Formats: sequence, C-alpha cells, structure tokens
Amino acid sequence: MNARPDGFAIGQDPEVGKEEKVEGCSKCGRTWPAVRFSRYTAACNIGEFMLGGEPPPPLCDACWPKPESELDAKIAEAQGVSTAPALIRSVEVTGIDSRTNVVSFKYATHVGSSELLTTLLNVAFKGKNPGEFTWYVYRDVPVAIAEAWFAAPSHGESYGKFFAAQIKNSYDSERKV
Ligand SMILES: [Zn+2]
Repeated sequence: MNARPDGFAIGQDPEVGKEEKVEGCSKCGRTWPAVRFSRYTAACNIGEFMLGGEPPPPLCDACWPKPESELDAKIAEAQGVSTAPALIRSVEVTGIDSRTNVVSFKYATHVGSSELLTTLLNVAFKGKNPGEFTWYVYRDVPVAIAEAWFAAPSHGESYGKFFAAQIKNSYDSERKV
C-alpha cells in the first residue's frame, strides 16, 4: 500500500479517491502519488470547470499555473493545512435574460473561514445555438464588485448594464475551454 504524501493511509481518509482517480498529469504524465492533484480537484470542486460536460485534462500541482489570484492562494493554503477539501461558499445566479447575452454567473466568496477579497468571476454567455453557453473567467474581481452585481437588480439596474459598465472591460478575462 502506498503512503499518501500527506500521511493519510488509504482507506482511512474520507477524501481518498478524488485525487487518486485522476489518471495522470496531461503535461508531465506523472500520476498520483508521485504528484498530487489537489489544485485540479479543488478547481473541479468550486465549479471552475462548469457545464460543457468534460473537465479539461488534468494537471498535477507541479504543472498547475502559479497562483494568480487570492482564491487560488486561499485554496492552496486551506489544503496545505488539512487534507480535507476546502469548504467553499459560492454564489451562483442563473436564468439571466440580458442584451449582453450574459445568462449566468458564479463566484466564490469564502474559502474555509476566510472571506475572500478578490475572486474568480465565472460568466456564461449565450452561444450561437440554443442551449449553448460560453464561459469566461474574470480574474481578481473584488468580491464587493461581484456582490454588487448580484444585488444590481434590487437597485434598479439590470445585470447586463452592470456587467457592461463595471466588469466587462475592467478585469482580465479568458475563455474557458
Ligand atoms: Zn504534471
């Protein structure tokens, strides 16, 4: 029986099975337990890879891009302290009807007991065909801005207007594949 790098014995760790099921790193080809996949599995857990069905090819922690956001850092920190998965509170809004084609958005507000100051804001847009969505992630968005977007309609502003004015051109974004 292989010892896990974090000291847990297989069969005793309630979290066993998540990382171990990852077939191997798509970049370096190494497999658990030679490398860990905690960042990849955490990204799956927080819905970084939503919709579209298939999650992207796995990356081990060594090949995972360096933490760029506070959210990444908090997840890494939370998982360094404990093998339990980070408890993440996130907010998701769906069913938006907007001329900007935004249909849904999602962001984390807390990792464990830590309140985030910035977050990854995941935004879904209508695709070419009905029922098709394209997701973009906006990086280092202040949680306060995401919360203000969430609350925009209660202040008489539409989701689309708030997005266009406050978010669309204000943060780095990339399309999720
Ligand atoms: Zn790797």
